[in-house]
Amino acid sequence: MEDLSRRIREKARETGAVILAHNYQRPEVQDVADFVGDSLELSIKAMETDAKTIVFAGVDFMVEQAAFLNPGKKVLTPEPGSICPMAWQLDPPVVEEYRRKNPDAPLVVYVNSFIEVKSMADYVVTSSSASKLVSKLDSEKILFGPDRNLASYVAETTGKEVIAVPLNSYCPVHVNITADKILAVKRGVPDAKVLAHPECPPETRRLADFIGSTSQIIRAVGEINAKRFIIGTENGVVYRISKLYPDKEAYPVGEDTVCPNMKKITLEKVYRSLISGETVVKIDEKLAEKARRVLERSFALLGVETPWSRK
Ligand code: SF4
Repeated sequence: MEDLSRRIREKARETGAVILAHNYQRPEVQDVADFVGDSLELSIKAMETDAKTIVFAGVDFMVEQAAFLNPGKKVLTPEPGSICPMAWQLDPPVVEEYRRKNPDAPLVVYVNSFIEVKSMADYVVTSSSASKLVSKLDSEKILFGPDRNLASYVAETTGKEVIAVPLNSYCPVHVNITADKILAVKRGVPDAKVLAHPECPPETRRLADFIGSTSQIIRAVGEINAKRFIIGTENGVVYRISKLYPDKEAYPVGEDTVCPNMKKITLEKVYRSLISGETVVKIDEKLAEKARRVLERSFALLGVETPWSRK
């Protein structure tokens, strides 16, 4: 494995490629990457580098997003079959139907969606910016999708009526992080702080000492004055925390708290991608332009400088 990691690093240097790995990737894939992080954070990191090629170890909507935010750069996916089942739960006909039924409600979409859906939205958010952006909207009724759990979290934290689009969308990994599982782990480590992703069900979130995106959870471990933490998100984050904070103890909710699609990407596939220059992520430039404008509007409302205006 070490030898392959070394060859990957050499090849990346030779070809001037940057390797990005999502927080849910396998430990060895995280270790070989230039940057590890959340999906939007990684796309922005790629914009800040001079690399002409980006190898993105992440699921389909993430590589697509990296491609439309990095025009002029070649984005490679090491495994095109690495998909996000949640993103697939929201498609344009569903968006149109909910828009028709709720003509006055703005549509806010989660970054875990495809370019076509993003380009139809009024705003695009991450799990860390969703509540902040919705609280700034001049409307008490909001359409939000996909993910009914993040939608209910936004409703709880903003006091607004948030309609999940579609009503029953969810992440199959986080929906299985149940309150019972958290309580079972807690029995073994009663002093552990519980950190949960907002894609977890409401009963799980009610047990949490901290709720946040994967990057916020990782930061929280460093900031909270405690030794033990139960990590209510995908187990790749447990590995990341063990690397960043070796003096702290991170406990997974279960051995099966794993996104199988993220784990389809292996070191071998990253290496093959670098060698072959495959598989190039292709996007529709008109949709890309629209989606970038929706993101610009979202950054502006959040009071954040648009990353592509920095250069
Ligand atoms: S963990 Fe859930 S939201 Fe993330 S990629 Fe896997 S299925 Fe999609």
